[in-house]
Amino acid sequence: MKTWNKRTKAVHAGTRRSQYNEVSEAIYLTQGFVYDTAEDAEARFIKAGEDEFIYARYGNPTVAMFEDRIAALEGAEDGFATASGMAAVNGALTSMLRAGDHVVSARALFGSCLYILEEILTRYGVEVTFVDGTDLVAWKSAIRSDTKAVFFESISNPTLEVVDIRAVSTLAHAVGATVVVDNVFSTPVFSDAIAQGADVVVYSATKHIDGQGRALGGVILGTKEFIRGTVEPYLKHTGGAMSPFNAWIMLKGLETMDLRVRAQAETAHKLAAALEADGTLDNVIYPGLESHPQHALTVAQIGAGGTVLSIDAGSQEKAFKLLNTLDIIVISNNLGDAKSIATHPATTTHQRLSEVTKQKLGITPGLIRLSVGLEDADDLLADLRQAIKVM
Ligand SMILES: *Cc1c(COP(=O)(O)O)cnc(C)c1O
Repeated sequence: MKTWNKRTKAVHAGTRRSQYNEVSEAIYLTQGFVYDTAEDAEARFIKAGEDEFIYARYGNPTVAMFEDRIAALEGAEDGFATASGMAAVNGALTSMLRAGDHVVSARALFGSCLYILEEILTRYGVEVTFVDGTDLVAWKSAIRSDTKAVFFESISNPTLEVVDIRAVSTLAHAVGATVVVDNVFSTPVFSDAIAQGADVVVYSATKHIDGQGRALGGVILGTKEFIRGTVEPYLKHTGGAMSPFNAWIMLKGLETMDLRVRAQAETAHKLAAALEADGTLDNVIYPGLESHPQHALTVAQIGAGGTVLSIDAGSQEKAFKLLNTLDIIVISNNLGDAKSIATHPATTTHQRLSEVTKQKLGITPGLIRLSVGLEDADDLLADLRQAIKVM
């Protein structure tokens, strides 16, 4: 299996077959497992074997297939699947941190990630320093000899700033800090985060892994020691486990993810390039465009521009008019979906932030985040152009 390429792993890695030798992965919708004898129960509670389960909050065969498959894809030793992406971000950080620890985090984060860093960790005595994730000098001066962890989104939401995984990891590892990367926008298809230095990679499986807007899920990936020694004890007792049914959806999602995400990224690139050339918008942000400040880093780090672009309509009024005129692209707040989705971050996903913070993060009143789906690229471009004309 080690020699398989990603697309083969995405279809076959982690497969466990029952005595019936089914082709498609079975859904083990069971909370528990029967022991033949009291002695067997006792033995399993002392130490469960490689493929033995106790309770679905601890682990389940369908969930284990998903964990093994995504870990193989990411090149991680192990993984723990969670109920949502936020359970994964929270589990990765809270399981390893304690009062008095110091964390350095990029400032440009998904709203709920920011809440964990800013509100929850600090409530329990963890000190958090926020930096501009694109500024290596800022990372260098914020990371201290006692820094326990660094956290960032490799491509930030919604302004698509790209953080240099290799460079930040080198700075963090010099003081023995653990590098935790929320890699949603890079996607498991384009990610090489572990080889580039990340110790822990976190995904919201709700996004590209499901890719069809059906279920919530998340996963924490890292060394066997970190996943089984630090993450599992925390999550199995605090209840962030993924449902076996959702794990099955995610497993089937992984089978087609490579094809979907590459097609979505190709369309996103086409749309970004065309809209930039049209010159009718105040700004077109896409890491795959040469105009993006971290374009070279993006190419080196993930070899593609991703499936999301952000555009600036100039004002909230114009942005709303544009959104309300769209025909194919729906107004919602998921991303990585087969359906193209437009979001107005300032009034929805990032509404909670103060005006000052929004300004600092570049979340302007006219900003629209576009998650590009699987529709025909020309149809999507025509939809955007007719809406831009009305705006
Ligand atoms: C969506 C998202 C999350 C949270 O994932 P859920 O599955 O919605 O809990 C975390 N980080 C990033 C970057 C995201 O886009």
